[in-house]
Amino acid sequence: MAHRKVDFLIIGSGIAGLSFALKAAQLGKVLILTKSNEDESNTKYAQGGVAAVVDKSDSFAKHIADTEVAGDGLCNPKVVENVVKEAPARIKELIDYGTNFDKVDEEHYDLAREGGHSKHRILHYKDITGYEIERALLEQVHAHPNIEMLTHYFAVDLITQHHKGVHVDKATKDICCFGIYALNTKTNTIETFLSKITLMASGGAGHVYSSTTNPTIATGDGIAMVYRAKGKVRNMEFIQFHPTSLYNPKDSPAFLISEAVRGFGGILRRMDGVSFMEEYDPRGSLASRDIVARAIDNEMKKSGVDFVYLDITHRKKADILAHFPNIYEKCLSIGLDMTKDLIPVTPAAHYACGGILVDEVGKTSIQHLYACGECSSTGLHGANRLASNSLLEAVVYAHRIFEDAAARLPELFFDTAIPDWDESKVASLNEEILVTHNLRETQKLMSDYVGIVRSDFRLDRAMRRLGFLHEETEDFYKNTKLSVKLCELRNVIQVAYLIVKSAMLRKESRGLHYTTDYPQKSTSLTDTIL
Ligand code: FAD
Repeated sequence: MAHRKVDFLIIGSGIAGLSFALKAAQLGKVLILTKSNEDESNTKYAQGGVAAVVDKSDSFAKHIADTEVAGDGLCNPKVVENVVKEAPARIKELIDYGTNFDKVDEEHYDLAREGGHSKHRILHYKDITGYEIERALLEQVHAHPNIEMLTHYFAVDLITQHHKGVHVDKATKDICCFGIYALNTKTNTIETFLSKITLMASGGAGHVYSSTTNPTIATGDGIAMVYRAKGKVRNMEFIQFHPTSLYNPKDSPAFLISEAVRGFGGILRRMDGVSFMEEYDPRGSLASRDIVARAIDNEMKKSGVDFVYLDITHRKKADILAHFPNIYEKCLSIGLDMTKDLIPVTPAAHYACGGILVDEVGKTSIQHLYACGECSSTGLHGANRLASNSLLEAVVYAHRIFEDAAARLPELFFDTAIPDWDESKVASLNEEILVTHNLRETQKLMSDYVGIVRSDFRLDRAMRRLGFLHEETEDFYKNTKLSVKLCELRNVIQVAYLIVKSAMLRKESRGLHYTTDYPQKSTSLTDTIL
């Protein structure tokens, strides 16, 4: 089959992939592959907004300090400074692309405050900021003659020397990415895409757990692909559980009650109506996510209940409706009027703070491969991401990658000696249900043993069970025709392994990683690199 050749190949059409595409298109031809509809992404569901210093009463120093406090000692200070200081320019670009952010008057933005932020600094569009950003970026992408997008193409694996029959081991420093093998889900065939530069912008991995706020695309594909290609990943133990997803067992994914509701005065209460966060942190309900999620987990375990309450009924109805129309409608659809009723909430897997290891310009440990957005680990979030810093990280790094790629593109070439994907020896799987069972089993064991509170015993148990699921799934993979579900299962198991292995290696409690066997923080600061 003929190979497609393109200067820039981008996996993913969320904020990271689209932002980079618009910049790279100034330099050459861009092709975006995305596994679902063009807008289906974590980006589309972001509610709260984007953090940036745009008001005179705020300062870079304060945003930096808040980010580092949340990151619990593991943020890379240089990276934090870069991202915070470059934020205003990147926000201006989003606005120039046509993104709307709410304003209080002609000149001033309506800045919200979220957990862990010492100032009001979150630019937002009602409570559907991500939807608005995705809309504006897609409009620009459609209008650009140098950008093509193929939807319902599932990236399966990076093409490296391995596919040319050259042995690469982990110590090899010059593993190269020549492009991607992707499954065209309409024809069910694997196509070969060759590129000079590839960007992994495949988003998060919430579906490693049974309860998550992430849409179904978030199966950690990019992280798994890079690790399989012997690239490096970092700090995978730091999974952020959002403290307040709406408790409604029928919802999958879980619906998020934005942090901005607590920023707007929302108070967490026990079943008996008593506010409890003051017992855990002086910032009360506005403490950072790790602390709030652990406190809720503890309250739920103490009293054997499935949720706690979030109370915003003391604010004016008109204000609640103006700020949270989407959340209001969702609550109403299950019979709750948030202007009068308490909202039942429970933590759910939300954000992967670790990911593909990248340097200050977004380069991975594999040559010609960059990573951007939630699938990457830049060093910004450390052991815990500060709310609304992730959309920001994606736009800042899209720009940094563009600048580095612009300098390198002229010396890069295509490697055309790449074989087609070999499907000759496989049969169709006629029991897809086995894949679904293994996925559910993986998600459940991760939620049961590798959630908010961990221990050596639980991690060992998780690892043993994962080993078995891995073996069984690899067997399916080797002997059956590829399907998206099978590839996703394989990736979820791979990412689950990375989370458990990283958690086992961290013999301390820090940020989002809390273990009853090592409840204290270690005096040495180390990243977990696999
Ligand atoms: P995504 O937006 O997830 O895009 C990933 C893309 O990759 C998708 O198009 C997907 O289909 C594609 N893809 C994945 N795997 C493959 C594959 N194998 N082949 C082809 N394509 C593939 N952050 C904030 O800063 N502020 C907020 O207020 C906020 N609220 C949030 C609310 C919710 C409910 C959620 C889920 C997240 C929220 N976040 C927020 C986090 C933020 O939305 C994400 O971290 C960010 O949008 C990630 O952008 P991305 O471009 O890296 O990935």
